[in-house]
Amino acid sequence: MQEEQLCLRCKEPFFSQANQSLCNRCAELLFNKVKEYINAYSYNSIQDIADNTGVEKKLINKWLREGRLELVSADALAEKEKLLNLSKQYQEAQKTTEMEQKTIASSNRASMHYLKYNK
Ligand SMILES: [Zn+2]
Repeated sequence: MQEEQLCLRCKEPFFSQANQSLCNRCAELLFNKVKEYINAYSYNSIQDIADNTGVEKKLINKWLREGRLELVSADALAEKEKLLNLSKQYQEAQKTTEMEQKTIASSNRASMHYLKYNK
């Protein structure tokens, strides 16, 4: 069902579908902002993107559901150049004690999901 309401961002009236709070134009603007952020920082998280772009997590999650954004594991990005830095860090870590190694490995694994965009 469509319902006319005011866009939260530009205050222009628009027809809202599925509880949208932003008009399409504003949503696209924000999506481009997120895209730019993802281009600039391959290592990101939903929280990270929300904090740095000011885009609500709710909206980021919506794009994830729609398949416009995708959560990928670091394995899928492994061939990417930027990941080389991480493996260097990991090799450094392997020089440390076994105990420290485990901590570093598990903390890396916990954060090894990044967002990429599809279109
Ligand atoms: Zn708007």
